[in-house]
Amino acid sequence: MPASNVNSPPRRVRGQHAVTESKWEMAKTKGIKKTGKKEETEVKSKLPDKCDIDASQDLFAIESEICMRCNDAVLDSQKGLKCDCCNSWLHIDCDRVSDDVYQFLCDHEAEKSIHWYCKHCTNVLGHLLTATGRIEEAQKSFESKFDSFMNSFNNKDDLPNLMEATQTKLEAKVEELTEQLQARVELSQNKLEERVEELSHHIQSHATETRLMRDNVEDAVKMKLQEEKEEEELNKRKYSIIAHGLAEPSGDTAETRIKSDCDTVEHMFHKTELDTISVEQITRLGKRSDEPDAKPRPVKLTVASETQKDQVLKQAKNLRKIKEGGMDKVFIHQDLTPRQRQRRKILVQELKDRQQRGEQNLIIVNWKIVTRQMRRQVETPVIVS
Ligand SMILES: [Zn+2]
Ligand SMILES: [Zn+2]
Repeated sequence: MPASNVNSPPRRVRGQHAVTESKWEMAKTKGIKKTGKKEETEVKSKLPDKCDIDASQDLFAIESEICMRCNDAVLDSQKGLKCDCCNSWLHIDCDRVSDDVYQFLCDHEAEKSIHWYCKHCTNVLGHLLTATGRIEEAQKSFESKFDSFMNSFNNKDDLPNLMEATQTKLEAKVEELTEQLQARVELSQNKLEERVEELSHHIQSHATETRLMRDNVEDAVKMKLQEEKEEEELNKRKYSIIAHGLAEPSGDTAETRIKSDCDTVEHMFHKTELDTISVEQITRLGKRSDEPDAKPRPVKLTVASETQKDQVLKQAKNLRKIKEGGMDKVFIHQDLTPRQRQRRKILVQELKDRQQRGEQNLIIVNWKIVTRQMRRQVETPVIVS
């Protein structure tokens, strides 16, 4: 509590009410001591119902001059100060204000440029000032950066040139990449074409091989069939021979003509010492001609066995010695298959050609043209007609 001293310098009032000790004592008897400003309603409720208006105003004046720290009235006999910020009264001891400062403030009370703030407001104002300072710093920093940015932007007089240069670079890069891409595509395409061509050749080659193989197979099959056919033809002629130059049979009916042919053949075999030969069938080949000087048709004779056939062929050469009945004009040979006939035709033509060139004594033996050495070796007579 501040010491009460009637001789102390006048306290700083700044036009406020002064609370006298007598008024304060009266107020305390009404029970408002230590209630503080914040309980104004309670203060009012404790005022006497019948007090006059002046008494009420005094009480409110007292209430507004209670020290914020100790809740006692700041009496006019005490050293007290009113805060220029929160308008609260405080004993100088309660707010730890020195007597020198108090005295200075009292001396310059009329000076409007001198202010006093309580400790609480000083702290608040201090924080406020610090915050304001920081805000100002931040604002300055922002303005500086903004200016710097604007300057740097404004200084870009060559911005269009820069953009143009960048665009040119980009275009060059795009062109370069496009060329590289085209080169790669062309390379791939060439490789692909080469591969396709290679495959095409391979396929063609394979097709040719296949065709050749197929042809070979076909040829082989054909040959096999021909051989089989030839075998069949040979079998059909196994026991048969062909006789040329046998006079056409006489007689008006087929029966008499057959009889005539049988007699002719029997006579021929008798003359060539072939009486043991058994003739199974006699067939005139081809259509009978009505021409009087027509050559007689060949006769196909089928005998009983291959041995008999060989016998006939062997003895046939003797026919030319038999003048009787025109037997010397008869010529007997094997019953050739169509294939053999073709082969013989070629051989005969060759033989004729060689004879024309002056070669002599040529004969055909076993499907070959040879020069006759000795008469007894001759197996097949020379055919020149
Ligand atoms: Zn106080
Ligand atoms: Zn204050």
